[in-house]
Amino acid sequence: MTVSSDAIARVYIQLALAVEQHIPGYVDAYYGPPEWREEAEAAGLRPVDELAREASALAAAIADDTEMDSQRQDFLARQVRAMQTSLNILQGEQLTLVEEVKALYDITPEWVDEAVFEETHRTLDGLLPPGDSLAERMAIRQKATEIPVERVQPLLHEIIAELRRRTRARFPLPANSSFELQLVSDQPWEANHCYLGNCRSRIEINTDLPLHITALADLMAHEGYPGHHTESSIKESQLVREQGWIEHCIELINSPSFVVSEGIATRALSTLMTDDEVVAWHASELFPRAGYGHLDAHCEHAINTAWWRLEWAVRGNAAFLLHDQGASEDEVVTYVQQYGLRSEEEARKHLDSLNEPLFRSYIFNYRYGGEMLDALFAAQDNHDHWFSRLLTEPVTPSQIRAWTAD
Ligand SMILES: [Zn+2]
Repeated sequence: MTVSSDAIARVYIQLALAVEQHIPGYVDAYYGPPEWREEAEAAGLRPVDELAREASALAAAIADDTEMDSQRQDFLARQVRAMQTSLNILQGEQLTLVEEVKALYDITPEWVDEAVFEETHRTLDGLLPPGDSLAERMAIRQKATEIPVERVQPLLHEIIAELRRRTRARFPLPANSSFELQLVSDQPWEANHCYLGNCRSRIEINTDLPLHITALADLMAHEGYPGHHTESSIKESQLVREQGWIEHCIELINSPSFVVSEGIATRALSTLMTDDEVVAWHASELFPRAGYGHLDAHCEHAINTAWWRLEWAVRGNAAFLLHDQGASEDEVVTYVQQYGLRSEEEARKHLDSLNEPLFRSYIFNYRYGGEMLDALFAAQDNHDHWFSRLLTEPVTPSQIRAWTAD
């Protein structure tokens, strides 16, 4: 008996909603039929071995479907492989960190040599004002660029309007797409994107952590335009509504699609604006308007670029230390302080997120997603064409590697 592609997509969604009962937070967004979610909730914790058998049957049905669009089929196959991995972990299977990341996200993480961090430290040393240790100089810079939350809101509206205008001009953002901003507290992250369906999102900003004038445009590009909100809106409109590929009405946090999403988000601002445009916008508009006209926008941009490169790589190594090399929590904290130039308090926050089962391997998605896009844009002409394909098609890391190698 053959199962139709639509029936396969339905089973995929229903199975994911059943997994969510075991792993709260597994489903990052869902805007399909509400009764499917209600059914999953009513069924509660279904036996994991039963779910694993259904996932195997689903994987086989996807492989056997000769009618399905091949890109759709490849996407679903890799998403289901990740789901099977999550179920195996629930059943107690012990995977090394590399095995876990490969099976969940379709990428192979590697340890970064500390010489790379030392090189970035030298770059930062040349950019930061003189002082004591590099970590202290970085902390002083972070303090000097902090912006109180009450001054952030009017600025955010201006930033969002500009990013939206540019995104609409170059990518097929639905006209009715919009998001609301919500200030929250008691969260481990700086900001979070919740897709609500009907081209609407809620973007939450954590006011417990300091916001930086230098990072606001990047933050809104990452979460909003042309990052997470844009991707979800376009995929809803083009894949779910137009093509009927309903599997995209659910977003699974531990799956290859999120490597692509974080790649899009970390390269959102640099897709929309050149470095010179970002610097000019900060220097002539954003910094003076918020009372930071004294900052050197060029230098701040260079610091940010170096800082984020350092951040994701150090946090990846911290994951290796903790989950692969048997380092103690204190050793990990010391490592993050030394190489990531973080305070002990900040390093402990990083450690907390590495101890979260849902997020212990997610950290690699930022760096590998971003670098994968850099490689694609370097190998192929027409950056916008490829960015547009990432926003409109079912894409996995394997697909991006194939595009890059073509
Ligand atoms: Zn993100």
